[in-house]
Amino acid sequence: MGLALAHTYRGTILEAVAYVTSINLPINAETLSDRARRGPRYTSYPPATEFDSGFGASDGDRELASVPGGAPVSLYCHIPYCRSLCWYCGCNVKISRDRSKGSSYVAMLCRELRLLAGKLDSSTQLVELALGGGSPNFLLEEDLTRLTTTIRETFNVADDAEFGAEMDPRETSVEFLATLSQLGFTRMSVGVQDFDEAVQKAIHRFQSIEQTDKVISDARRLGLDHVNVDLVYGLPAQTPRSFSRTLDAVIGFEPQQIAMFGYAHLPQRIPHQKLVERGGHMPNALERAELMLFATDRFERAGYVQVGIDHFARPDSPLVHAALSGNLHRNFQGYVVRRAERLLGCGASAISDSGGAYWQNHINIEQWERSVRAKQLPIARGVRLDQDDQIRRYVITKLMCDAELELTEVEKRFAIDVREYFAYELDQLSRDEFNELVEIELDDGWLCATALGCQLLRNICMVFDRYNRHSDLNPNDGSRPSFSPTV
Ligand code: SF4
Repeated sequence: MGLALAHTYRGTILEAVAYVTSINLPINAETLSDRARRGPRYTSYPPATEFDSGFGASDGDRELASVPGGAPVSLYCHIPYCRSLCWYCGCNVKISRDRSKGSSYVAMLCRELRLLAGKLDSSTQLVELALGGGSPNFLLEEDLTRLTTTIRETFNVADDAEFGAEMDPRETSVEFLATLSQLGFTRMSVGVQDFDEAVQKAIHRFQSIEQTDKVISDARRLGLDHVNVDLVYGLPAQTPRSFSRTLDAVIGFEPQQIAMFGYAHLPQRIPHQKLVERGGHMPNALERAELMLFATDRFERAGYVQVGIDHFARPDSPLVHAALSGNLHRNFQGYVVRRAERLLGCGASAISDSGGAYWQNHINIEQWERSVRAKQLPIARGVRLDQDDQIRRYVITKLMCDAELELTEVEKRFAIDVREYFAYELDQLSRDEFNELVEIELDDGWLCATALGCQLLRNICMVFDRYNRHSDLNPNDGSRPSFSPTV
């Protein structure tokens, strides 16, 4: 269950089943799969599909110039390289076995970092660094050192800044982990997905439990003690029975956090995903919901708390503290502790969020490089948020993070009459399809997800999404085929 359910429900998923049963609506795979739709994951609002090529380098310059002096910022650096392609992959990735390619990439990344820092007030504080990809551990140790040293020399790094990196355990050496630790990294996110042989064959990703366990143990010994593990459900040949061994192994690693995403099979947008179809039976909507509930139950029995729609964390973890204190945030990396309002993205395809605009760098590495060489922000597209976007972003982020919304706070913050402004949305939410998902107390000024609604927050958010009235919208069920299913 989502955490911040002050007005509806707080407890474990098993208690939730009892709670929902008491209002004659059990959370079961049928209930969830019947209500699953396709829609955005709301890691941003507007979703990245709304970014526009009319937003360019000069717009980015203006946004960076308006960041107030002393403001905290987070930095994300994208390392697009991996040694082999996982067929389910939806990231911007470039396959190579030549690690020296990372050297010229890092050289360019350092130039971009200096370019970016030069456009910010020098008192801007870097409070968080995340390396993602691709696989940051594709880099040679000396390139990782060069990158991190440049960041420390270029930005005003806060004493308590948190450094974290995504890691592919199939390619991670002790030397790389030791370098990360020496450079001040304390957090690591490890990709697992599934340990079952048939599933691994279907997705072309071969990784043993022992190999993963060793990387996590080595990392902890070296001081990278905050570990997140990524899993994916909805993959071909996956069943609750086959997934069970993976869940046992992951729980045995005792990570602080587990992120479990529903597989987004979108071969029309990501052609290599067609290869996944060879791997056997692809779970249907009902089977996906069964897998999700099965894993959720296992995590909660093992003492993890569900945070948002797809994260699980130990009760004493920073993520749970953030959820309980209203400090949970959602960005392109999923649910995170909110440390800064602004996110700067560096590297090919990286996305930045200045609060008033989002923008994405060129996906193509050569194009990205050309812009950096020309001393121009390598922006391919973006969107400036108008007042309506700002209001809806606030509402959607609150719902995705807290599963509830204080309507009176929206009125105060944006000087609007919520009943009038959201008349259409409130009418939609009062219909049969939604009255099992939300409770609305207009007089008290509250909108809360029910226990069932907590698993389907994306469905609720889609009602508030102005861009969800597009031509690709299925008029029968409100689905958008170009997005992943909500369960
Ligand atoms: S390791 Fe991650 S980023 Fe690289 S191909 Fe596999 S899924 Fe994609």
